[in-house]
Amino acid sequence: METEVYYSALKKGQGHAGCFEAMIRGIEADVSQFGEGSFVGIKMTVGDEKSTGHIKPEVVRVLVEKLKGQGARPFVFDTNVIYSGHRQNAVDHLNLAYRKGFTPDNLGCPYIIADSVFGTDSKSVKVDFNNVKEIKVPSLVTVMEDLIVLSHVTGHIMSGFAGSMKNVAMGMASRAGKQIQHSSLKPYIDTARCSLCGTCIEHCPVSAISEHSGKAFINSRLCIGCCECISACKLDAVNINWKEDADIFAERMAEYACGILSMIKRKLFINFAFDVTTECDCIAGDDPRIVSDTGIFASKDVLAVDKACFDMLTQSRDIFSRGGRIKAHLHEFEYAQKVGLGSTQYKLVEVA
Ligand code: SF4
Ligand code: SF4
Repeated sequence: METEVYYSALKKGQGHAGCFEAMIRGIEADVSQFGEGSFVGIKMTVGDEKSTGHIKPEVVRVLVEKLKGQGARPFVFDTNVIYSGHRQNAVDHLNLAYRKGFTPDNLGCPYIIADSVFGTDSKSVKVDFNNVKEIKVPSLVTVMEDLIVLSHVTGHIMSGFAGSMKNVAMGMASRAGKQIQHSSLKPYIDTARCSLCGTCIEHCPVSAISEHSGKAFINSRLCIGCCECISACKLDAVNINWKEDADIFAERMAEYACGILSMIKRKLFINFAFDVTTECDCIAGDDPRIVSDTGIFASKDVLAVDKACFDMLTQSRDIFSRGGRIKAHLHEFEYAQKVGLGSTQYKLVEVA
């Protein structure tokens, strides 16, 4: 069955907020489902300290004001991450958000870290998929009825393409849930390439990498599969099994997204194809943009919105495959449809 995906093309001189305003006018009926008194969680991420492509507070505010205008009680939220940086606990995470302008004044609503100060708020929910039999999520997710997911579309070191599905699967899992999704990843060092520069050793959040016979060495018993070392190594000396490990990672994400979204009544997914970088906002510094700014996509179907966006951005070539090495996103689209997450068939409706 074809699902409708709405598309607001970025027009000259319009700006991201203007493009979003046009989108919101175009999907009035979908936005109006979040009615009087409803607590609407707006899921997004502020990204790493150095990322610049994330969705900006003034853009989020367009939606916040619209929701407040129809009597809803919106709040913006994210969760803590498993790798190093400023988002491992809610105190550093909130301070980072405020430094990047995500203050209640700028957003027009509170910004909340959903899984508590140390990321320990983690409830287990039974599911029945091939790889995952229970998901671990902040308790907020288990009682949430209204959700709008705002995703900055980027590439991703493991899953190739990152949009709404990843924002839900990783971004709405607790730290324990994130770790489980990463647990299939078993990186190893290509010793012929390693110069023992030490960068991966510095970046590993669990000290799983050490020097051994003049090369870096990963202790797989300590490794949590966070991928930091893969993106840190400039000599491509950290490898994984790109076919099997990455495909299972993609399957776990699809299963997590499916489990999470099945608990929530009203949902809307909005992808922003602006400032698209090779790496996701968690690790991007000032990555070069890999495609020109395109526009905004919205749908009630998390899979359809990602697929439509991916198709539009890869018309000339698959910019997310890193020269054909990464294909996990293609497997993820197929697998996500198989587990019932949504539809890869869609009808694109352009809003004025
Ligand atoms: S970052 Fe790469 S080159 Fe440097 S020590 Fe680690 S594996 Fe070796
Ligand atoms: S070895 Fe690499 S993937 Fe494993 S925990 Fe350390 S940085 Fe993360």
